[in-house]
Order: sequence, then structure tokens, then C-alpha cells
Amino acid sequence: QVTDTLTKEGPGSPSYDWFQTDSLVTLVIYTKQKDINLDSVIVDHQDDSFRAETIIKDYSYIIHIGLSHEIQEDFSVRVIENVGKIEIVLKKKENTSWKRLGHPLENHNSLIPKKDTGLNYRKCQLISKECVTHDTKLFCLMLPPSTHLQVPIGQHVYLKLTITGTEIVKPYTPVSDFLLSELKEPVLNNKYIYFLIKIYAAGLFTPELDHLQIGDFVSVSNPEGNFKISQFQELEDLFLLAAGTGFTPMVKILNYALTNIPSLRKVKLMFFNKTEDDIIWRSQLEKLAFKDKRFQVEFVLSAPTSEWNGKQGHISPGLLSEFLKRSLDRSKVLICICGPTPFTEQGIRLLQDLNFSKDEIHSFTA
Ligand code: FAD
Ligand code: NAD
Repeated sequence: QVTDTLTKEGPGSPSYDWFQTDSLVTLVIYTKQKDINLDSVIVDHQDDSFRAETIIKDYSYIIHIGLSHEIQEDFSVRVIENVGKIEIVLKKKENTSWKRLGHPLENHNSLIPKKDTGLNYRKCQLISKECVTHDTKLFCLMLPPSTHLQVPIGQHVYLKLTITGTEIVKPYTPVSDFLLSELKEPVLNNKYIYFLIKIYAAGLFTPELDHLQIGDFVSVSNPEGNFKISQFQELEDLFLLAAGTGFTPMVKILNYALTNIPSLRKVKLMFFNKTEDDIIWRSQLEKLAFKDKRFQVEFVLSAPTSEWNGKQGHISPGLLSEFLKRSLDRSKVLICICGPTPFTEQGIRLLQDLNFSKDEIHSFTA
């Protein structure tokens, strides 16, 4: 029987309840928090095991039950934001009355620090794989119908493959397809997750990923990361410093900022690459800059050919001080930086030298 033990620490104790009709079982989670949305809850069911993890600040509230009866594969998740209530509607396989929901499994009905929950994985199917540059590909993975998971802006997941008998795990940052689908309506199907991944011929993980065939499976973890959407509040100038695949977190950030931040005046991306051939989605970025006057993009190459007449070199005080001009004297700025570790570390030092505060800088690291 499901019991009601709860670790009493952290945010106010969440709780849950359930009720049923002939054909449905509704599980209700009361988070007692207001800033809950569809990104906050991750639901998986496999065989009779049902698990829902709700992220509440730095904690996870876990419902984990061995269901007493069979359910259909798909379910729906609804969030009533103003009261912090989550409803998960399961479809019964047979229209019988359930006497109980099931028996508790590991960590059921407990609120535990997020760092202690461990990574949960589900198998996702490779739907497509397209070349973007000579070594970078856009991978589309599909979540199983028995999973609800949305990766929040600025967060990454871990991909897992078994390579010669050993499980290998590496972090990747999902992108959105907004730069690709300017003429189409955005696909409102949260079942697909897109990744831009550079294949390193001598790498451990990416050659294996590249060898996957359409229809093969990769395990995808729960999201992680410390970027907070509240960093966008009242934002006026957004500066993005990206090197190589360090561009990946910038994709969703760019889309979100241009669509959802009314105070935003300017977004500038400085994109560092070795050569012109390495630039991911160059023409899409140039088109966006043409279409939306708030957005500007500048490419900087560290190993250009003699024909390149744009900016050259590595990240430097000269490049940054010219680039990071506020649109108003005291405008609220955010600078996001991501790339190889030496690039990010050097960038942070240079930004501090230019008197940007810690709150004005967000660096993406593991
Ligand atoms: P590795 O085996 O790690 O090798 C990488 C390269 O280094 C190869 O060229 C290899 O030859 C060389 N190398 C390895 N070991 C050595 C050594 N000892 N000396 C010299 N050279 C060496 N990448 C993306 O493409 N897209 C993303 O969205 C993305 N998101 C990320 C998010 C986070 C939070 C982090 C931390 C990283 C992210 N990465 C991303 C990088 C990704 O996690 C992997 O590091 C990358 O894919 C390389 O993995 P690999 O196993 O194929 O290569
Ligand atoms: P790359 O080797 O193609 O280099 C791109 C640019 O980075 C270079 O043109 C140069 O301007 C700069 N750079 C490279 N090495 C530098 C150094 N030592 N000092 C200063 N600048 C340097 O890059 P890549 O192969 O695409 O690698 C991208 C990196 O970004 C990977 O290390 C990956 O792990 C990291 N990444 C991190 C995250 C994250 O933390 N969230 C997300 C995506 C990618």
C-alpha cells in the first residue's frame, strides 16, 4: 500500500492524491508553489512502474508507484500554474474500479535535494540525422509516448550508449528548430528533441552516435543545469559569446528572448569558429538579423583563409570592449558564454576586467 512518509525539509511539503472514473485515473500533485510549469514535471512509465518527478526549486518531489492495474501507454499532463497543481491523467486498460493506486517504489512520496536524485534515463528513437557543417549534424530524437519531458532553456541532458560493453555518457544541449522553420508554424510536438552534435573522428562517444541508424535507440537523461529564466527579467541587452558547439545553448535563449522579453532592445551574438566551414547555421543567423533588427551577429575566425575579411583571432579585450556596448548607459545586460573550457574561462576573466558583475554573466559548463 502507498504510504505517506515525506522528508520534511526544503520547500513546503508537496502532496498528492488520486481519483478515478470508469476509464481514467487522475493523479494530482499539489506543489504548493506558483512557478510550476510543464517543464517542472518529468513523467515516465514502464511496465507497471510509474514515476513522476516534480522539480521544486532545488528539490525533486517524487511519486514512484508500482501500479495495481495496467494502463495505456500515453497519458496527459496538465499544470494549473496559479495554484501550482499538476494533473496527470492515465488511461486504464480495462474499465474496472481500482481499490488502490499501487505499491510504493524507491523514494516514493519524498522530497529530496535535486542533486541526490540521480539521473533517470529513457530510450529515445533516432528519427533523423542531417549534415549541418562538414563535421556537425542535427540529430532528432523522439521520446517514447510513455514519457513527458521538456528540456528547459539553458539546460542539457546526458546521452548514454553502450560501447563495447561499457555504458558511456556525455552531456548535450538540445536546440530548437526555430532557425530552420521560419516559414512553417513551429512544431508544437514536445515529443521531439533536437541536438547539434559535432562528430570528432577520434572521439569516444560521437563516432558511435554517428553510426546509429534511423530507428535505433539512445538513452536520454533528465535535464540538468543552472540557467534560470528569471535572468531575463527586465533585460534590455543580451550578449551571447559562443565558440564552436558552444553555440547550442544560445539557440533556445535567442528564440526565447526575441519572443518573450518585451523590455529587450538588442541581442548580439559573437560566434567564434576556426574557419568559415565550421560556422553552424550561418545563413539562418544572417537571415534572422535581416528580419529582426534587434538581433546582430558577428563571426570571428581563429584560422581563416586569406579571403576572409571579417573579424579574426581568439576572444580578446579589444574584441569584447568594442562588442559589448550597452544600448543605454544603465541598461540591464546579460552576457551568456559557452565554448571550450579555456575559451569560457578566459572570457569570464575578460568580462570581469571590463567591470561586468557576476550577475551579468552566465557561463555554461558541465
Ligand atoms: P572525446 O573522446 O571527448 O574527444 C574529443 C576530442 O578531443 C577528439 O578530437 C579527441 O581526439 C580529442 N581528445 C580526447 N582525449 C584527448 C587527449 N587526452 N589529448 C588530446 N586530445 C584528446 N557537444 C556538442 O557537439 N553539442 C552539444 O550540444 C554539446 N553540449 C554540451 C553540454 C555540456 C554541458 C558539456 C559539458 C559539453 C557539451 N558538448 C556538446 C560536448 C560533448 O559533451 C562531448 O564532450 C563531445 O561530444 C566530445 O565527445 P567524444 O566522446 O566524441 O569525444
Ligand atoms: P573548436 O575547437 O571548433 O573551437 C571554436 C573556437 O573556440 C575557436 O575558433 C576559438 O576561437 C575558440 N577556442 C578554442 N580553443 C581555445 C583556447 N584554447 N583558448 C581560447 N579560445 C579557444 O570548438 P568545438 O570543437 O566546437 O568545441 C566546443 C566546446 O564547447 C567543447 O569543448 C564542448 O564541450 C563545449 N560545449 C559546452 C557546452 C556547455 O558547457 N553547456 C555546450 C556545448 C559545447
